[in-house]
Amino acid sequence: MQRRNLLKSVAALPLLALGSSLPAPAMAAAAHLKRVRPGEPAWPTTNDWQKLNDAVGGALLPGHALFSACESDRGSAACKETLGNIGNPFYIGDQPAGTQVSGWLDAWTPAPSAYVLKARNSADVAAAVSFARERRLRLVVKGGAHSYQGNSNAQDSLLIWTRALNQVTLHDAFVPAGCGEKVKPVPAVSTGAGAMWIDLYDAVTSRGSRYVQGGGCTSVGVAGLVQSGGFGSFSKGFGTAAAGLLEAEVVTADGRVRTVNACSDPELYWAIKGGGGGSFGVVTRLTLRTHELPEYFGAAWGKLQAQSDDAFRRLLVRFFEFYPTSLFNPHWGEQVTIGSDNTFEISMVSQGVDAKQATAVWRPFFAWISAAPDIDILDTPDAGARPARHWWDVAGSHSMIPDKRAGAPPHHAWWEGDQDQVGAFLHGYDSVWLPVTLLESAQRPHLVDALFAGSRYQEIELHFNKGLAGGPGEAIAATADTATNPAVTAAFALAIIANGEGPLYPGMGRTPVDAATAHANARAVDQASAQLRRIVPDAGSYVSESNYFNAAWQQAFWGKNYPRLRAVKDRYDPNGLFFVHHGVGSEDWSADGFTRLRD
Ligand SMILES: Cc1cc2nc3c(=O)[nH]c(=O)nc-3n(C[C@H](O)[C@H](O)[C@H](O)COP(=O)(O)OP(=O)(O)OC[C@H]3O[C@@H](n4cnc5c(N)ncnc54)[C@H](O)[C@@H]3O)c2cc1C
Repeated sequence: MQRRNLLKSVAALPLLALGSSLPAPAMAAAAHLKRVRPGEPAWPTTNDWQKLNDAVGGALLPGHALFSACESDRGSAACKETLGNIGNPFYIGDQPAGTQVSGWLDAWTPAPSAYVLKARNSADVAAAVSFARERRLRLVVKGGAHSYQGNSNAQDSLLIWTRALNQVTLHDAFVPAGCGEKVKPVPAVSTGAGAMWIDLYDAVTSRGSRYVQGGGCTSVGVAGLVQSGGFGSFSKGFGTAAAGLLEAEVVTADGRVRTVNACSDPELYWAIKGGGGGSFGVVTRLTLRTHELPEYFGAAWGKLQAQSDDAFRRLLVRFFEFYPTSLFNPHWGEQVTIGSDNTFEISMVSQGVDAKQATAVWRPFFAWISAAPDIDILDTPDAGARPARHWWDVAGSHSMIPDKRAGAPPHHAWWEGDQDQVGAFLHGYDSVWLPVTLLESAQRPHLVDALFAGSRYQEIELHFNKGLAGGPGEAIAATADTATNPAVTAAFALAIIANGEGPLYPGMGRTPVDAATAHANARAVDQASAQLRRIVPDAGSYVSESNYFNAAWQQAFWGKNYPRLRAVKDRYDPNGLFFVHHGVGSEDWSADGFTRLRD
């Protein structure tokens, strides 16, 4: 309804071209610059918004909350539709105000923008960027909407939404623009910034028989993940998603549409490889290298429970004898979960290993479990593999849930294992990169002690695919040439500790867990993570899967790369148009990104 109102009011006004003729308000000095909110005198008039809407071919929408229909009428068809689809990440991603996380205790709550640009091309994006810069608006960028930190929504902002930029093209021999003879042509895939990884896996693997390194969760946005660094199940073998970036089209704060790569704007190119989304410009297109597809992708699974704390420690000791000799290599990624109730869950994946090899690798560990008198088997451990080309096949899959909405592309589906995360409301979250030195025999007892002690507070997931030590030299070198904290290549795993509830969006009418329980849960995450930080002082943390309240975020997310990132920020966005919580340069701004605190 709000959208119809906007279009009606837009249609009633004379058509004016947008451009340099716009009566832009005087630019405020950079220091103490304040962004404008609706209702303030400097807020653009309806006429101004109409001119922007004209310039972008009518792609400007008024912002409204995801559950606005329920707030006005709980019995309405629109409210029922939203409630009925809230477990579907593709539906959430299709909504202008959709966020895949429904908030974070004491941190952020989803809030609609004042206006949303549903961008059709880079010219639309450039028009909106210039409009926001000239009018001193708070600008926010959204792709797949998976930011845990809430960085793709902001109240009273203009949102650039890239969802519709989703075209995918394969190349046999790609050379970045301007690189000429300097680089060898390589097979690659180009994609609009709003595509999701499942769109690339479908084109590159299911239909193209090659592989591109992206994210594990199928509905994560391509541009957001690459700017995070980005890990998928097979990253141990291929490096981060950012490591595969060959070229990007970026609209910078000055409104220029730039093609950036190793030969053109190389520092900006480096910064968007892991420097964090929403801080340097709007990425509108990306080109990523593709790899030869391994013959097999596979998995190992199982769930065990020790009958006592001592038995659980013995289980951890045995696993960390087994892991370095058998699984610490490019083939094995994903997770084991160390539970507070002495459970140990295996959900690992493999690449380049057939079913026979997979079972042979795990046999000694599984045999030890079977022989252990004080370990119960809750889910029988096993391992297997299947042709890699069919990994993302939806038809006949028992582990993928298809998007069943009318008109949904047949390849749109999400892993059953990701269902719990859809719309989650976080109580606490943290991650710690665990250095490979902890696998040395002298250090292992400390590792086991810390994992045992931490898991008394909150279960700990070890994501082996998110620590690249043990990977091939080429993947390590390509990842080292990104902005991500160098701790990533020296780590054997990323420990993730989190809890929450949900979905719990404003307006959906669900009763939350009581505040005392939620705060106790948040404390449990902090206490578990403190146990790991005792053995990893100055721990690195993955920017996109991290603690909202990490005070040492510059060091944790980027380590020694932070000063270089800051220099790129100052060069390409000197007035801080692009602001996100704990993004590069955000230390200069108030928490809401509306007031500049220092030059
Ligand atoms: C359920 C879930 C599963 C996840 N799974 C994985 C995983 O498997 N592997 C992993 O590494 N991470 C994972 N993450 C973290 C995720 O990769 C990051 O949050 C990533 O940044 C999300 O990108 P997005 O486009 O989906 O999100 P968005 O929320 O749209 O964007 C994230 C950030 O990037 C910015 N951004 C988005 N698009 C652009 C653009 N075109 N130009 C400039 N800035 C942009 C936004 O402003 C925001 O700051 C997961 C997160 C969730 C919630």
